[in-house]
Amino acid sequence: MKPAVFLDRDGTVNVDVGYLCHPDQITLLSRAVEGLHLLRDCSLALVIITNQAGVARGLIPPGQLPVIQRAFLRLMRAHAIPVAGYYACPHHPEGSVAEYRRACDCRKPAPGLVLQAARELDLDVQRSYVIGDKPSDVQLAHNTGATGILVLTGEGRKHLENYPPGFTPPHMVCDDLYEAAKWIAACEGKNTPR
Ligand SMILES: [Mg+2]
Ligand SMILES: [Zn+2]
Repeated sequence: MKPAVFLDRDGTVNVDVGYLCHPDQITLLSRAVEGLHLLRDCSLALVIITNQAGVARGLIPPGQLPVIQRAFLRLMRAHAIPVAGYYACPHHPEGSVAEYRRACDCRKPAPGLVLQAARELDLDVQRSYVIGDKPSDVQLAHNTGATGILVLTGEGRKHLENYPPGFTPPHMVCDDLYEAAKWIAACEGKNTPR
């Protein structure tokens, strides 16, 4: 079993444009590639875990999810970033599209997609990390026994200043994915550039 980094997508790896529904809208955040290279070089499996409730809300055509996924993975390959898995939840309990309106076990912070990834990719979740810009990402880490890092890109800064009631704070707060990757590399006993 291998440790992984479960990465939120929007606001963590790429700019969160709000219900991203076309490959042209994928813009990588500054230093995201450098951060992903550091994580890659730590021999951590890189797994995308993304809530895409825009499908349930009728704002993203369901057929666009695989199109965006392919474009995202192509972009990662172009940067020599090996993505071991990519998992998306299209549901929302109050969605307007009946087919996707449900209280599922895969919408973060529910652990469903992490558990599925762990099963399919033989990952050691207890030795893994979650990086994301929302409380649901941090809560996902707590719910699965992984180490949670809140990044201040996307909505991170807004949430840092206003945690929801009863919220268990992240293990670490970092400016962006690159800083998070440096912290993880240090945890993993790797020397990294300053
Ligand atoms: Mg996000
Ligand atoms: Zn779901």
